[in-house]
Amino acid sequence: MNSGVIFDIKEFAIYDGPGIRQTVFLKGCPLRCSWCHNPEGLDPAPELLVNRNTGISRVFGEVLTAAELAGRILENADYYHAYGGGVTFSGGEPLLQPEFLSETLSLLPDIHKTIETSGFSEPDTFREIIHMTDLVMMDVKMVDTGKHIKYTGQDNGCILENLRYLCQSGVPSIIRIPVIPGVNDDADNYAKTAELIKDSKSLVRVELLPFHKTAGAKYDMYGIDYEPMFDVDREGQYSTDIFADYGITSVIL
Ligand code: SF4
Repeated sequence: MNSGVIFDIKEFAIYDGPGIRQTVFLKGCPLRCSWCHNPEGLDPAPELLVNRNTGISRVFGEVLTAAELAGRILENADYYHAYGGGVTFSGGEPLLQPEFLSETLSLLPDIHKTIETSGFSEPDTFREIIHMTDLVMMDVKMVDTGKHIKYTGQDNGCILENLRYLCQSGVPSIIRIPVIPGVNDDADNYAKTAELIKDSKSLVRVELLPFHKTAGAKYDMYGIDYEPMFDVDREGQYSTDIFADYGITSVIL
C-alpha cells in the first residue's frame, strides 16, 4: 500500500471539472511559478507554518495511505455523483506522487476522476495516469522555453511532450492558461498554444484563468518571501478570438 501527502480536501468545488466535486490537493510541486497562490503546497513534506496575523500555527500536509484517501473520497461520493461531479486531484503537482495517485485512482472505479496538472512529469508516468482518469485539466503556461524557465524555474520540454501525447490520446482534456499580465498574455503565446492543440482528438475547451492579486496575502500571512517577477497591477489580455480562429472554444473563468 502506497502512502502520500495531501494538504487539503476542498468540498463543493465548481471550477475543477464538471458538476460539483471534491478536490484533493497533493503536496509538492517541482515548479516555482512566480504567480503561485498555493505556497503551502510546494514542499513535498508536511510543514508547520505560523499565521503572522493570529499567531496560530498549522501543519500543512497529512500522510495517508491510498486506501485511507480513497475511503474519505468515497464517504460523500454519492452526493457528488448526483450533482454530475466526482473527484479532482490537484496540487501542488499530483504527478509528483505517481504511485500514491495511481493506487488511489484504482480504488475509485465508479467515480468521475479528473487530474489538474502542470504536465511536468516523466512521460511514462503521465501516460499511465491520464488513462486512469475521465478528464485531464492541464495547465499550459507558456510555449517559449526561455520564458518558462525564467518564470517557473523549469524547462518545459517534458510538458510540451506530454501535451502532444494528451492531444492524440483520446482522453478528454481542458487546457488551462493562467493569464499572467505581461508574461504570457501576448498574441504570440496564445497562437503558439492554439497551434499545439488544434488537432486534439478530445479537447473540451481552453480556459483562461485570471491572475488574482490575493495570492500575495497568503505569502505575507505565513511569512514566506513573495517577489512576483511581473507587474501585479497590470490588466491581463484575454484573446479568445485567437483560439476561435483555430476552431477552438475558449472561455474566461
Ligand atoms: S505548477 Fe501550480 S502549484 Fe506548482 S508552482 Fe506553479 S502554480 Fe504553484
